[in-house]
Amino acid sequence: MLYRSTRGEDLSVSSSEAIKMGLAPDGGLFVPASAVTVSSDFLAGLVKASYHHRARAILELFLTDFTPEELDGCVAGAYSSEKFNHPDIAPVVMLNNREYILELWHGPTCAFKDMALQILPRLMPLAATKTGEQDEIVILVATSGDTGKAALEGFMDVPGTRIIVFYPEEGVSQVQKTQMVTQEGRNVSVVAVRGNFDDAQTGVKEIFSDRALSRSLKQSGYRFSSANSINWGRLVPQIVYYFSAYLDLIRDGEITAGQPVNFVVPTGNFGNILAGCYARRMGLPVGRLICAANRNNVLTDFIRTGVYDRNRAFHRTTSPSMDILISSNLERLLFEITRSPWQVGDWMRQLRETGRYTVDPATRQEIQALFWSDFADDLETARTIRETYLKHGYVMDTHTAVGRNVYTKYRQETADGARTILVSTASPFKFNESVVRAILGPAAISGKTEFQLLEVLSRTTGLTIPRGLLDLDKRPVLHSRSVAREEMKQTVISILG
Ligand SMILES: *Cc1c(COP(=O)(O)O)cnc(C)c1O
Repeated sequence: MLYRSTRGEDLSVSSSEAIKMGLAPDGGLFVPASAVTVSSDFLAGLVKASYHHRARAILELFLTDFTPEELDGCVAGAYSSEKFNHPDIAPVVMLNNREYILELWHGPTCAFKDMALQILPRLMPLAATKTGEQDEIVILVATSGDTGKAALEGFMDVPGTRIIVFYPEEGVSQVQKTQMVTQEGRNVSVVAVRGNFDDAQTGVKEIFSDRALSRSLKQSGYRFSSANSINWGRLVPQIVYYFSAYLDLIRDGEITAGQPVNFVVPTGNFGNILAGCYARRMGLPVGRLICAANRNNVLTDFIRTGVYDRNRAFHRTTSPSMDILISSNLERLLFEITRSPWQVGDWMRQLRETGRYTVDPATRQEIQALFWSDFADDLETARTIRETYLKHGYVMDTHTAVGRNVYTKYRQETADGARTILVSTASPFKFNESVVRAILGPAAISGKTEFQLLEVLSRTTGLTIPRGLLDLDKRPVLHSRSVAREEMKQTVISILG
C-alpha cells in the first residue's frame, strides 16, 4: 500500500515514510493511494477475536511495510493491561435496546486520544529505521488539552524522539494542565503559550513551514514530525475500534452480520469520525455517521449547506476538546470524494485566504448521504448528562453528552430506528466539574477544585477514580515555562540546544 498527498499527483510514499513525515511536503495530507476493502469472511473471522487480534488484522492492511511481528509488538505494547484499565480495551456498553456506548477512554490519559497515541510512538521509531532516518525526530504538538497529554504519555522516553507540547495558558482545564506540567520523561518539554489554542496552533504551523529553521535543525541532527491527527499514523488505529464495536454486537447477539449500524461521533478536528468513514468504505456495514458538534458548529453548517465558513465567533464551551473552527481532516474526506488534488488544493487555498469555501452540489450530496449533523449547546449537554444518569444510571462526560443530545435530534428528524453506537470520547472524571454540576447542581461545585470534585463524583456515582487522575495535585510540577506566541520558535531552538 502506497500513500499520496491530497494536494498533488507525483508523490508516492510507503506507510513508514508517511508516518515519519506527518504532513506531505506540498502541504497536503497523506491518504492511501488505492482503496482497501474487506470481505464478509474477514469480518466473520474476527467475531470472537480479541481487540489485539482485530487491531493487527486492520493495521496490516494499511501498514504494509511493517512485518507481522513488528505490528504484534506494537499492538501488545500499546494495548496492555499496564496502560489500559479495562480488559476489552474499547468495551461496548448497552444503554437501552437501541443505543450502545463505545467507551474509548480506558487508557492512561482518560480520553480517546490514547487509542492512537499509545501505538503511534511505537510505530514511529520503526518507521524511522525503515526509512534510513539518521536524525532525531522532534514531535511538535499544539493542543487544546487532550492530545498534549496523550502524546506526552506515548512518546515519553521513546528512543530517537523528542516531544515539545504547546498548550494555551488560559484554554485548558485544571486537570488537563496538571496532567501536562507534571509529565515525567527525559525527552519531553511542555510550554504554556500566552494566548488561545488558535495562537498555539498557528505558531506550530509556522515553525513547521519555516524552511530555514528546518535546514539549520537538520545540521544539528533534528527533523520535525507531528502527532496531531494530520498524521496518518493517528487515523489507522482509530479505524480498528469501529470494526471492534460492530464485531462485539455480532458476538453478543445484538445484531446479525451485515445489519447496518449508525455511529454518533462528538467531533472537533474530524479525525475520529473520518476513521469511521474509512471503516465504512472498507465494507463495514455502517448506516449513518452522525457528526455531533457543540456551539462551534462550523461542521454542522457545512454538512447541511456545503458551505464551510470559519468567519464566526469562537465559543468556549463545556466540551473544550471540540472547540475548534478549522477541522483539518475534512481535507481527507474531500479528497476521497472528489479524487481531485487540484480541487482540494483550491478549496484549502480559499479557506486560508478568505476563511470559507463552497463545495459543488455533487460533493455536497455525497457528504449528506454519508453524514448527518446537528449541535448541542452547554445547557442541552448538561441536561443530557443528568437525564442519562437519572434514567439509565450511566455517567457520561460532556463530549459524549453532546453526541447523545444530537442523536435524540436525529431520531426526531429521521425516525431511523437502526441500532446506534454512541462513541464516548472521554472519562466523566476528566471533565468532572461540568459533570458534577449537571448531576448535583451548581452548589455542589462551589468553592471546590477539580481534584476535590473527583472525590465528589466518585462518591456520588460509585465509580472508581481512574489511575491517571489519582493524586494528580500531589505530583511535582516539572514544566513551568510560559512564552508569548512570538517566542515559540526561539523556544524550540533553545530547547533543542
Ligand atoms: C479530541 C477530542 C474530540 C474530537 O475529536 P476529533 O478527532 O478532533 O474530531 C472529542 N472529544 C474528546 C474528549 C477529545 O479529546
